[in-house]
Amino acid sequence: MDIIDNIRQTRDITREQLATILATDDDTLVERLRQAARDTADAVYGNKIFMRGLIELTSHCKNDCLYCGLRRSNRTAVRYRLTDEQIYECCATGYNLGFRTFVMQGGEDGWFDDTRMCRIVRTIRQQYPDCAITLSLGERSRESYQALYDAGANRYLLRHETASPEHYARLHPAEMSWQHRMDCLQALKEIGYQVGCGFMVGSPYQTVDTLYADLQFIRSFQPQMVGIGPFIPAHDTPFADQPHGKVSDTLRLLALIRLLHPCVLLPATTALGTLHPQGRELGIQFGANVVMPNLSPAEHRKDYSIYDNKICTGEESAECRACTEGRLRRIGFESVVDRGDYRNRPACG
Ligand code: SF4
Repeated sequence: MDIIDNIRQTRDITREQLATILATDDDTLVERLRQAARDTADAVYGNKIFMRGLIELTSHCKNDCLYCGLRRSNRTAVRYRLTDEQIYECCATGYNLGFRTFVMQGGEDGWFDDTRMCRIVRTIRQQYPDCAITLSLGERSRESYQALYDAGANRYLLRHETASPEHYARLHPAEMSWQHRMDCLQALKEIGYQVGCGFMVGSPYQTVDTLYADLQFIRSFQPQMVGIGPFIPAHDTPFADQPHGKVSDTLRLLALIRLLHPCVLLPATTALGTLHPQGRELGIQFGANVVMPNLSPAEHRKDYSIYDNKICTGEESAECRACTEGRLRRIGFESVVDRGDYRNRPACG
């Protein structure tokens, strides 16, 4: 049995196998990895790619993650907050375009406290009972997560960033804690959310060992979603001069995550599309099955600047949707806008 069959059948990987796959320049091996990942995704989800409508609520953040353009120390970041009405307008536009999942994402901004955020979630839930509401608002208290869940949120994305506490400490200021991030993920799962974790590929100080820890964390945590994309430096941050992550590494890791966790919902991220004109299409071909067109008001998109040169900051929502749909169609995939829930099929893959 060769390395790809072994990973696929055991749904496990050794550190040495990971090192081999990341280092190989054997195109045949990479193509076999890609095909195995795509076959695995097809067995669970077919050729359907789920579209989620992304709404970027706020570019304010109290945190100071070293890699992020929205970190509080970045005095050149442009800050904005959407009003309740703007958020509802984004949802209405999205709903009319067919979206049945709204992903509300933002920095850790105290303005969006539990009172405000629960009101927003409750309003959307009442208005669109057939839609999934996904939140990505960073670390909050267990009580806050519970209140948002009770208000009608279904899913929560919180990248773990790295499964290595030492690596985490090099990417974040001392007041942020790896353990707290892990506790948040655990709390979200216990409350009943469909949970997404994830990490950047090629972040400073990342090694094969930290990536191996990430893959093993995903195997044990069994999240419903995993978001990974290449690290892209942001100007006016401590990592501004660091090299970006590699597209090829990101694609190989997407494929490996698909093989290790066949049912996972796996986005082809905007960061991948930022580094390569066909990055998101390649992500799909390496096993991803989710894309997230932007529903945020066009005038604020360029200000949600977590990294430099982010694409899709000029289009209107309808253009974004049509563009994404066309890109998927051209590579033989069908975009679907339904809720696209996680499918737990033990026999898949
Ligand atoms: S990564 Fe998130 S929590 Fe960290 S500074 Fe950026 S927006 Fe804030």
